[in-house]
Amino acid sequence: MSLCVSRLQSGGLIATYQCQSACPHCLYRGGPAREGAYMDQGLATTLFAKARELGAAAMHIGGGEPLSDPLSLAGLLAAADEAGMPIEYVETSGAWFTDAEEAVELLTELRSMGLARLLVSITPMHNGFIPLRKTLGTIEAAQAAGIVVFPWQEHFLEDMRAFDPDRTHPFREYQERFGQDYPAQVLRRIWIHLGGRAFDLFAPALGRRPVAAILAEASADCRAELTDVGHFHMDLYGDYIPGLCSGLAFRADDLGAPLDPERYPILTTLAETGIRGFYDYATALEDYTPRPEGYVNKCELCQDIRRHLSERGWFESTELSPAEFYAML
Ligand code: SF4
Repeated sequence: MSLCVSRLQSGGLIATYQCQSACPHCLYRGGPAREGAYMDQGLATTLFAKARELGAAAMHIGGGEPLSDPLSLAGLLAAADEAGMPIEYVETSGAWFTDAEEAVELLTELRSMGLARLLVSITPMHNGFIPLRKTLGTIEAAQAAGIVVFPWQEHFLEDMRAFDPDRTHPFREYQERFGQDYPAQVLRRIWIHLGGRAFDLFAPALGRRPVAAILAEASADCRAELTDVGHFHMDLYGDYIPGLCSGLAFRADDLGAPLDPERYPILTTLAETGIRGFYDYATALEDYTPRPEGYVNKCELCQDIRRHLSERGWFESTELSPAEFYAML
């Protein structure tokens, strides 16, 4: 049975993959090295309308850093308005903050365009790139502009306040201060999806196991993950990212109908036979060799197989997207 995503619940637009930071837990591998392109208003209107048609009642705008280009963000807010899509929140790391007065002015303007709620990231991972002073300045500016702040995750402030608020503090400083098991402590305190850069950050806490062990415990297929619409994303290239499987994509135009297996062979293989079928395919036909140190879970193995295919110039489909995601592995 072909993969089909026919209903949507809750999700967001990835406005850009570029970000001033390159946080070590980022699922989408955002960062300063990513292309600076930003979603245009016309595409955003189309994507919001499509999501609405398929049942999404509200969406968020994330990235990358959506506030890296406030004018383009205003375009996305206008697109949401035009498509009748309520915006739950816009995400920000606060890296753009320099001056309180300017920040209040900017946020007041964005508020008048529909930005009612701002998710501000507050984590030790972000603090490696953003001084706490900027994070707190962003929160205060948003409140002064009449925007509701959604702090993510406020309880980390206690740890972050142990350091100089005017400087950045790499994650290793947190490990030196709070113990080498700090990655495990973080995982106990918040839910973080293991994908993208998070594999490397949390591997010391979780361990890596040989491929045979990973395959032995894997489910028969990945249909449930690929059709999970509880936190979906669509990006600036017009792609839909199935589930939380970053680095996999299909055209948002193809939502609502069964995917063509010839156009989407990787997604079809994963949906029908899971990581075992994908691994068998890659080892038999594409000379894939698993790495000796093993993998955190089946998704890291999946990402490694996709990296291999990408390096071999897998041009049979557009499923391995964005190409930059793999270029950074
Ligand atoms: S193995 Fe691949 S397709 Fe399956 S859930 Fe993990 S990332 Fe997604």
